[in-house]
Amino acid sequence: MENKGTIIRGVGGFYQVDTGTELVECRARGIFRKNNVKPCVGDEVIFERTEDTEENTGVITGIGERKNHFLRPPVSNIDQFIVVCALADPDPNFIILDRFLIAAEREAVDIVICFTKIDIAASHVIEEAREVYSHVYPLIFLDARDHENVKDVIPFLFDKKSALAGPSGAGKSTILNTLRNDSGARTGSVSEKTGRGRHTTRHVELFRMEFGGMVFDTPGFTSFDIPEMETAELASYYPDLHRYSDQCRFKGCLHDQEPDCGVRQAVEKGDIHPLRYQSYIEELELLRKNRKY
Ligand code: ZN
Repeated sequence: MENKGTIIRGVGGFYQVDTGTELVECRARGIFRKNNVKPCVGDEVIFERTEDTEENTGVITGIGERKNHFLRPPVSNIDQFIVVCALADPDPNFIILDRFLIAAEREAVDIVICFTKIDIAASHVIEEAREVYSHVYPLIFLDARDHENVKDVIPFLFDKKSALAGPSGAGKSTILNTLRNDSGARTGSVSEKTGRGRHTTRHVELFRMEFGGMVFDTPGFTSFDIPEMETAELASYYPDLHRYSDQCRFKGCLHDQEPDCGVRQAVEKGDIHPLRYQSYIEELELLRKNRKY
């Protein structure tokens, strides 16, 4: 019989597969190593049960097609990024935030922005964040140390594999821990088998929320390099700009110096927030500069 599940943990060649009703500890068939494919957390897999043991074990025989795949941290099939950004201590840098958003857009995942530290943020900063992003992405405003407040994230997690991203210090791990404690997450057997008690290094894990949806628990996604791309590609990762690009006179318009640019007209009319346009122009300049070398 064919069994299916999701890899939620992988340590030392053992993979824990969550079928939705139980956890099965699997090894990977040798063929993957030969083909230089390594199963990773987030993979949807097919496995065969080991018949001759009492324990819940198996062998992974197939890996489903990946929607996306990341090397650091090594995960696949992210449906959604919750991009976490503090509104105080330090003050938010929307250029950096936009860089996370660009990287997420490139993976064609859903995006939610979660603004934190609203308990200490100045009200004009909160207002500005709302003005700049509310017509671009769904927004959550919270104090990550307030457990009740963190529950506002939960409705966004249903039926998706979500990962938190954003610079460190914004409250990602506090949010993760709260979600994890509230999720009724089943703890696995892999760590017990290694027999070393508490792990000092954190492994990538995926945990299932009791009310639906799965969340990656990973220390990664704290920075994104500005990816290499064509300058003409950049605007497509700013959905609020991109929606006006069909009003530009020239095909391939970079919305910079070109005449009759629909995007610049939308900025002038106030339909695109000037900070988002400014961020786009800065990234465009950066791309141009990098291409010179
Ligand atoms: Zn244009």
